[in-house]
Amino acid sequence: MTSSPTAKVNLLGLDKEALKAFFVSVGEKPYRADQVLKWIHFNGVADFHAMTNISKLLREKLSEIATITVPDIIYEKAASDGTYKWLLKLYDGNCIETVYIPEKTRGTLCISSQVGCILNCDFCSTGKQGFNRNLTTAEIISQLWVAVRKLSQLNGVHDHAVTNVVMMGMGEPLLNFDNVLPALRIMLDDFGYGLSKRRVTVSTAGVVPVMYQLRDAIDVALAVSLHAPNDELRNKIVPLNKKYPLQELMAVCREYFKEDKRRSITMEYVMLAGVNDTPEHARQLIRLLANVRAKMNLIPFNPFPHADYERSDMDTILRFRDILMKAGINTTIRRTRGDDIDAACGQLVGQVKDKTRRHERYLRNANAKQANSSKEKQEVA
Ligand code: SAH
Repeated sequence: MTSSPTAKVNLLGLDKEALKAFFVSVGEKPYRADQVLKWIHFNGVADFHAMTNISKLLREKLSEIATITVPDIIYEKAASDGTYKWLLKLYDGNCIETVYIPEKTRGTLCISSQVGCILNCDFCSTGKQGFNRNLTTAEIISQLWVAVRKLSQLNGVHDHAVTNVVMMGMGEPLLNFDNVLPALRIMLDDFGYGLSKRRVTVSTAGVVPVMYQLRDAIDVALAVSLHAPNDELRNKIVPLNKKYPLQELMAVCREYFKEDKRRSITMEYVMLAGVNDTPEHARQLIRLLANVRAKMNLIPFNPFPHADYERSDMDTILRFRDILMKAGINTTIRRTRGDDIDAACGQLVGQVKDKTRRHERYLRNANAKQANSSKEKQEVA
């Protein structure tokens, strides 16, 4: 399986409708879409010749005009808690990370949507790597394809190792909506991965207009990376807030699950010591979320090299949670998983051929800061 680009169409990245259109365009019956979707995703087959309910003639034709191309795994690491991390190499030399997190009753795959990220949230190491490009639909869904295959080889079970998918890896999914949407459809398709709509979560830093598009296009779970209860602070740690401030973000959140009163949005909130974790911040949050059906998920900050932040201590996190809970906001604290292999939230970095030169500037600033502080220390001594 090579990952070189090719003029042949890569069927891995086509959802049911696109596959139907493909078959019709080459003079075949549309029902072939169901068969091939099932072979590729449900059965994990990447070789047309193994598709035994398709005539030999058609298999040969498919091999000539199409491929099923999956990125190579160049690195696999298991953490002591059962978390897996895979590094996938794309045809252009960029690499992306995918993480599998097993729990008692479910297995969650955290997948990436872009190489790097344009948003540059201050507490996230992906942002510090800069940005290269959007992933194609095939590259997005290949993360699931690879994980399901790998886990079945490791555990000897084929299905159900992955019960949940969260788009919380590298990148902002709603800035790559055209490629993310077909991937979501394949995840939900019974001939694809058959995942439940409540177990596929798109996470966004708040690209407000595309949130409306997402809601109209597909029914999946939604997480919003909130991280701050007022615009002043959010502008600083989630710069996208300057474009789509909290008032606009809360307006779409109020609208989002209007049709289904039982559903709510998960608000992610990374706990940064002394920055966004005081009781006053909690009270501001309560006011902000007054008319929004939302659960809060508090994420202890995961450090990375040269980060300007520290993790709030557990007492502070518990106090913060209690204030929210007393106000009737369902609040959980995310257990940090996989941190011994840098697979925890905000630690996914892949290998980004940075086009923005942001990574270079970041390292230069970090080095300058370090030099300054050791100079100050020397002067004090
Ligand atoms: N761009 C999307 C998808 C990325 S999700 C979004 O912003 O939602 C990445 C999640 O990881 C974010 O919710 C953020 O809360 C979390 N995260 C990022 N950096 C982190 C860090 N250093 N420690 C803990 N969580 C972090």
